[in-house]
Amino acid sequence: MPVVTVPDPALVVLVGPSGSGKSTWASARYRQSEIVSSDQLRSVVGSGESDLDASADAFALLDQIVAARLRRGLNTVVDTLGLDPERRRAHAQLARQAGMPTVAVLFGTDAAQCRRRNHDRARPVPATVLDSQLRRMPEAETQLAAEGWAVVRHADEAAVEPSHSAGARAAAASQRSQPAQLSFVLQISRFPWGDDPAGWLAAVAEAAAGVGLAGLALMDHLIQIPQVGRAWEPIPEPWVTLGMLAGLTAGLRLGTLVSPVTFRAPGILAKTVATLDVLSGGRAFCGLGAGWWEREHAAFGLPFPPAGQRLDQLETAIETMRALWRQGTRAYAGERVTLPETTFYPRPVAAIPIIVGGSGERRTLRIAARLGDGCNLPAALPVLDRKLAVLRSHCEDAGRDPGELAITVLDVPVLGTDRDQVAAQVERLRGRTSAAVFARQHHAGTAAEHIGRYRLLAQRGVSTVFISLPDLASPADVLRLAPVTAAFG
Ligand code: ATP
Ligand code: MG
Repeated sequence: MPVVTVPDPALVVLVGPSGSGKSTWASARYRQSEIVSSDQLRSVVGSGESDLDASADAFALLDQIVAARLRRGLNTVVDTLGLDPERRRAHAQLARQAGMPTVAVLFGTDAAQCRRRNHDRARPVPATVLDSQLRRMPEAETQLAAEGWAVVRHADEAAVEPSHSAGARAAAASQRSQPAQLSFVLQISRFPWGDDPAGWLAAVAEAAAGVGLAGLALMDHLIQIPQVGRAWEPIPEPWVTLGMLAGLTAGLRLGTLVSPVTFRAPGILAKTVATLDVLSGGRAFCGLGAGWWEREHAAFGLPFPPAGQRLDQLETAIETMRALWRQGTRAYAGERVTLPETTFYPRPVAAIPIIVGGSGERRTLRIAARLGDGCNLPAALPVLDRKLAVLRSHCEDAGRDPGELAITVLDVPVLGTDRDQVAAQVERLRGRTSAAVFARQHHAGTAAEHIGRYRLLAQRGVSTVFISLPDLASPADVLRLAPVTAAFG
């Protein structure tokens, strides 16, 4: 039987008679706080789970909890018999208002088995009550379809899958049978190095190499950006830092993601990157973008011209760097750049890839299509699909084979070992963002879920994923990526 996926977050209503296995099913798949159970609430407001006198109070509470969770976009599993159409409709209405899918999971467990399980329980429901529940099941199934629920008929075949990674489960399975290639580079954007900066960096690099990552990319900013941390947290000059790393680790590719062209004169950047390439034995790459954060420019006395001019600068920078890196010393006259000579020693060991970052569809992606060796795009699938389509059409306009342009993405995943830990991490990291939104933004999930999602990226032509861990604190955190690199190794 094929696996049916239950989206997460959703309103999931369990429908089945006593003893059909609803609570068992739910607790195998969800955290306790995601399950709203009438039995449990009876024991909160009454003397125990089977205190039927407490039913009215328990259901009033249940309705209130379901409404509050759905309002916050939180996954909600309703563990009752599920046979009350009025309550079902009310819950479904709230879910739709919150933009959440509605799923009914049917427990068509064999009647004899329900009776047997019921009989074996400490406090069985009376046989006549169970019989009446069993009789109502076919009717409930018809009603559910009419009520507009996505109905899962065979509970045992249902697997929960985050909505932000639709298709990831199946993709993870395919990755096991027919592995796709993908390389992973650790992007370091935070530097909680305590009082041993060099020691911390060296240990992170060692962990990255040990876990099978292909390289290290450093963010290039003058002040820590608000999306990552606070302004007084350290943010080192990346090329100096990469120079140190070049002397420590063998094999890792080293570069920035991305250097704003507004920071350094292009010829000087060409010199810097080529020097890194030479000292690292040909491992340098250079992310380049137009820059976006006015504050750091003002603080460091750097001009911050309007976007159009910065994009002109991006074109000029790429052309200048390429002119200086190419063979020979002769004069250069190109599209935007004229140089009287291109005397440049030491030369890069190999062609240094320039990865254009930024996803402005009209100009940035056009520049990437025309001039980039790579183009770095957002990792969220629907956004990525749109950007790829735009990028391909720019390639067509420029007469460039899209296959020549490497596609990379920056991904900032919340990656936990199990559902509990994923939720705990989201709660710890989310700041003022709601848990539902934060989980979606960061594709919160287990390694298996990320592996499936990364395969979906590979299938779209992505060749490298830059992974930035939003909770990178110590080198040990890098080791959490081991299952991911192993799956694509
Ligand atoms: P109620 O409506 O009374 O709360 P329920 O649908 O929640 O019932 P459970 O409590 O999950 O049912 O299961 C009833 C009994 O059946 C339990 O003793 C449980 O261990 C057993 N059981 C449930 N699912 C399975 C299963 N898939 N295989 C074997 N035993 C099961
Ligand atoms: Mg139960």
